[in-house]
Amino acid sequence: MSNKIRVRIAPSPTGPLHIGTARTALFNWLFAKKNRGEFILRIEDTDLERSAPKFEEEIKDSLNWLGLECDEFYKQSKRLDIYKKHLQKLLDEGKAFYCYHTVEELKKEGEEQMKKKEAPRHVCEHKYKKLNKEDGIIRLKVNENSTRTIHFNDLIRGIVEWQEKLIGDLSLAKNLNTPLYNFAVVIDDYETKISHVIRGEDHISNTPKQILIQEALGI
Ligand code: GLU
Repeated sequence: MSNKIRVRIAPSPTGPLHIGTARTALFNWLFAKKNRGEFILRIEDTDLERSAPKFEEEIKDSLNWLGLECDEFYKQSKRLDIYKKHLQKLLDEGKAFYCYHTVEELKKEGEEQMKKKEAPRHVCEHKYKKLNKEDGIIRLKVNENSTRTIHFNDLIRGIVEWQEKLIGDLSLAKNLNTPLYNFAVVIDDYETKISHVIRGEDHISNTPKQILIQEALGI
């Protein structure tokens, strides 16, 4: 494995450059420069309904205006074949499955869990059934009875721990051609050889999910 420092900023083009993203970009850029590494811009535009090319241009212009020029550029909507290949592999290996619950059913389940003060998670019975249709969303099978704690080392917070059983069968994609955030991030960080992830703290709860996806992919 190479020791090259490679970091990324991964804005979603759903609005102009957010001040928090500019701040995170600055930390990434400084870290890359200090370590003679590379700073990568990745546009996360898989949510086609909310993304717009106009915002992508605004984000690029704003980063350039701030002097945070990138060394490499990627755009998720141009990488759909890559995500599809990995999704298909997880389905073929039985690590992922199609879930046919409706949005209403999932919402009701979430509300009942909140009432009982339980962690909201979807443990899907469809993972045990082989249904012959492919119009549901694709989820990762996660062991709801696991006694394991997932750990990761956050360089600011220290060791962060998460109980695997609280995660539920997490969603990977709306369909083979429409990956969701957590899945596309894992593939991209891996394929573009990102060495350090520097991002907003709101993503701490996504990190254990991304670790489970990495494990399922064997990366
Ligand atoms: N698209 C995500 C965001 O804008 C990026 C998160 C990440 O850096 O992994 O919050």
